[in-house]
Amino acid sequence: MFLECIECKATYPDSEIIYRCPKCSGLLDVIYDYSKIDFRPEKLTQPPSVWKYKPLLPIKGRIISINEGGTPLYKCGRLAKQIGIRELYVKHEGLNPTGSFKDRGMTVGVSKALELGVKTVACASTGNTSASLAIYAAKAGITAVVLLPAGKVAMGKLAQALMHGAKVLSIKGNFDEAFRLVQELCDSGDFYLLNSINPFRLEGQKTIGFEIVDQLGWKAPDRVVLPVGNAGNISAIYKGFVELQKFDIIDEIPKMTGVQAEKAAPIADAFKKGAKDIVPVSRPETVATAIRIGDPVNAPKALRAIRNSGGMAEIVSDEEIVQAQKDLARLEGIGVEPASAASVAGLRKLIEEGAIDGDECIVCVTTGHLLKDPEEVMRVCDKPIGVEADIKAIRAFLK
Ligand SMILES: *Cc1c(COP(=O)(O)O)cnc(C)c1O
Ligand SMILES: [Zn+2]
Repeated sequence: MFLECIECKATYPDSEIIYRCPKCSGLLDVIYDYSKIDFRPEKLTQPPSVWKYKPLLPIKGRIISINEGGTPLYKCGRLAKQIGIRELYVKHEGLNPTGSFKDRGMTVGVSKALELGVKTVACASTGNTSASLAIYAAKAGITAVVLLPAGKVAMGKLAQALMHGAKVLSIKGNFDEAFRLVQELCDSGDFYLLNSINPFRLEGQKTIGFEIVDQLGWKAPDRVVLPVGNAGNISAIYKGFVELQKFDIIDEIPKMTGVQAEKAAPIADAFKKGAKDIVPVSRPETVATAIRIGDPVNAPKALRAIRNSGGMAEIVSDEEIVQAQKDLARLEGIGVEPASAASVAGLRKLIEEGAIDGDECIVCVTTGHLLKDPEEVMRVCDKPIGVEADIKAIRAFLK
């Protein structure tokens, strides 16, 4: 196993602490000697979890785990009918230990930190990354430092970071500024960076792709739709599919389809314009705080994932996100935070525009749990009805 620059293809040992290519600043990928790995469905006999796929994960020694992965893949008949899709599934990543897919990345990232002998881990976060880093650092007995954009982190996520004992710094700036600062902090070498620029973290997240195919009976769906913020997850899931193809487990790679919020859509903009690079958005804004990111670090990987898979990118409004959140909750019993609902909102829009065919097998990834952001729920749902403690009054209201 080694690190490879996605631009100049220079390689580096996996024991080196680097986050970009020292030669050209390109992003890094973890590459294995695939010919030496036995990865066959019939050999993967462990119960569903990230670590079921250990032959293709970059950890040899001690693993820090709290049973991440193994999330349900729901078949969603009512939502499929409403949107006009033949076969629709929702992969509910909100059912991970801390309520988001970030746990898949952090179980691998923090295990790698221990292997590298690191004592302090750090990240910038819109919330979920900090919750996840805090819990895995706690389990590992190391220190987590998290930088959060002040006033823009959902309550549930902040509560997790605080309770699991991270050093929580509230930065007077947005995510992009916090991310710039944490990179500077980590360049000194005292802190190990676990944002999604870290290629080991993404190795954990690629197991979403493995699990989808596994749960469909080792068959690939036609398309995977997910929200895109810093763009690590779409890149990771794509890499997972590429590896399954290398091992002849799937023939075709699902069309990777990324959805962004209207005022935070640099990747979807670049895709629609056919531009090579993104133009960062300086003041990103959206109800979906988990994807409120203007300068996504993994944009080059994400654009490749979308283009190489014949996928797409779409832009949705906050209203469309909230509507999809309610539809998931009320048609399918799937409670998600706003960012997650962007996947379903984007899919609906692509079908309405005729950009994609309803005769597909599609998986939407819902990335985080409803309880992450209770304040948003109170804003978008009807208030509870105040009634006297009296049976007649109650009957009168329910008429
Ligand atoms: C982190 C996160 C995203 C965005 O994922 P990226 O890898 O940054 O694109 C989307 N939804 C939720 C709930 C998240 O926590
Ligand atoms: Zn390079």
